[in-house]
Amino acid sequence: MSDDSLDVVAAEVRVCPLCELSRTRTNAVPGDGASKARILFIGEGPGWNEDKQGKPFVGPAGKFLDELLAIAGVSREDVFITNVVKCRPPGNRDPLPDEIAACAPYLDRQIALIDPEVVVTLGRFSMARWFPGERISKIHGNPKRDGKRLIVPMYHPAAALHQQALRGLIEADFAKLPGFLEDAERYLEEAPLANVAEPLSEQMKLF
Ligand code: URA
Ligand code: SF4
Repeated sequence: MSDDSLDVVAAEVRVCPLCELSRTRTNAVPGDGASKARILFIGEGPGWNEDKQGKPFVGPAGKFLDELLAIAGVSREDVFITNVVKCRPPGNRDPLPDEIAACAPYLDRQIALIDPEVVVTLGRFSMARWFPGERISKIHGNPKRDGKRLIVPMYHPAAALHQQALRGLIEADFAKLPGFLEDAERYLEEAPLANVAEPLSEQMKLF
């Protein structure tokens, strides 16, 4: 795996036959952004526009995501954006558990290669990887540590776009991102001392 790269992952994804979504996609969407991004955003799966263009978050949810990134003071070029499944579920249905499982090794490799300080999960499917059984309404904007990384659960921009009440919440959560980056940097400096994981309940008290 030492020869692995984001380009290799993307090339495999574009021709991947590993689940049913390969039959109905126009273009697979491996993800886009800085190879050494400090922040990795993980959405759900490509929608209609993303499937047409082969790029993540280029439709209305993507436009809103750009506004949210501006609130956080970062641009697309600074971050990396991908999804739990890389091919569009037909009619924008939820991705199925076996599709998420089939696609997970690509996401695993992207996380390992980018090695981000902060992972932002957008919506419940990426959230479930780190916060199984939790409710987004309860934990959005409240990060937890995963080793040296900070994992921040957030609402999905598409959901917030269509529900005014959520819009203010997601904007406030994005406004906290610069502070989370500072926290993550501090953990990195402490990392040699902090290799023994603390119970999550203890970590949460830091926030
Ligand atoms: N919604 C997602 O979850 N991902 C995209 O790439 C676009 C919309
Ligand atoms: Fe392969 Fe993932 Fe696309 Fe399924 S969704 S075909 S596992 S790249």
